[in-house]
Amino acid sequence: MKLLYCKNCHDIIKLQYTPRFCRCERIGGVYVNILDIAVFGEKKLAVPLGIANPSFYKAIDNQPIEDLGNNGEVFLSFIIPKECSRVMYDADIKDYEKKEVPIQFTMNFKTKADLEKEKRNETSRQKVSE
Ligand SMILES: [Zn+2]
Repeated sequence: MKLLYCKNCHDIIKLQYTPRFCRCERIGGVYVNILDIAVFGEKKLAVPLGIANPSFYKAIDNQPIEDLGNNGEVFLSFIIPKECSRVMYDADIKDYEKKEVPIQFTMNFKTKADLEKEKRNETSRQKVSE
């Protein structure tokens, strides 16, 4: 998943398929498709970030129960290069305001808890139909 960090207000926003802006509203962004993002506002303030989804959901599965004095479960995140074919700067928000919102790609990645919940729901549906 991609996020944007604002160097002015230090906000971090998780991008979606509808435009979102940082707290100071000087930058914003939106997903164009599953991989590409468009960034609005001042390029010099916008720092795109990436979180490796499999690593993130694995870390959720491995979230420690108690504080063992370390920083908890680590996951992979990264700063996207200033020039990257997946990031389009100086985008015009008018092109993205009324975009259809597809199912979020993050739904492809499920935690163990998500899978167990689905299994429970299937089991309960089967019992109802029996
Ligand atoms: Zn800001």
